[in-house]
Amino acid sequence: MSTAVRRSTAERRPGIAGGVERSRLRIAVRGLVQGVGFRPFVHAAATALGLAGTVVNDSNGVLIEVEGDPAVLDEFQRILLADPPPLAIVEQVTVTGLAPEGRTGFSIGDSACSGTGRTLASPDVATCAQCLADLIDPTNRRYRHPFVSCTNCGPRFTIITALPYDRVCTTMAGFPMCPTCAKEYRDPTDRRFHAQPIACPECGPRLEFHDGSGGAGPTGHAVHGDDAAMAHARRRRRPGRQGSGRVPPGLRRP
Ligand SMILES: [Zn+2]
Ligand SMILES: [Zn+2]
Repeated sequence: MSTAVRRSTAERRPGIAGGVERSRLRIAVRGLVQGVGFRPFVHAAATALGLAGTVVNDSNGVLIEVEGDPAVLDEFQRILLADPPPLAIVEQVTVTGLAPEGRTGFSIGDSACSGTGRTLASPDVATCAQCLADLIDPTNRRYRHPFVSCTNCGPRFTIITALPYDRVCTTMAGFPMCPTCAKEYRDPTDRRFHAQPIACPECGPRLEFHDGSGGAGPTGHAVHGDDAAMAHARRRRRPGRQGSGRVPPGLRRP
């Protein structure tokens, strides 16, 4: 797919900030760029190049303001188009020149739920290999945590309540992060850096089991091998018992 790049006539507005020539650009990216790790990707690229600025999700996609040496900004834009995250689809990039402000550091800004605008929403993404490894590692704090996810996987479309895609605009808004998850969320070197569905057994949704008999089922953060849910499943697999996984007649193989 080709990517349309629009450049305003005011794109080049270099100025002198701190004794060196700098340019500042506003780059609006449209396409499938929310919920696919695009902001962490932009943060990593800008930080590696020593550029200053911010990146936020807005109701139409991703909005970047970035400032630095003009030649380095050219390289940043090249990376933006050439090496986006695997799940991202960049359809349009609009570049506008701004007056340099001389700021330092690059950060991911907070979004505000608008409920308006138009952008593509990422589908839910199957659990990645690293999260599956977390899931079965008894020493990992997400061992058997049924909602394990990261920047590369997990729910997206099914948890969105408003745009732009950010934790406050998802069903995860009701689950404040514990200090450990918050630390991972803020750490650019962690694969859960700005992963909106981030959670763990301490702070995330919990799985409950009800066997349908009216009695309260066991509750907990994870379904353990010897708990009543597994015992119930084993009972239903015995000969003479019909499990709920019965294949409807219309779907049976001939
Ligand atoms: Zn993952
Ligand atoms: Zn947590």
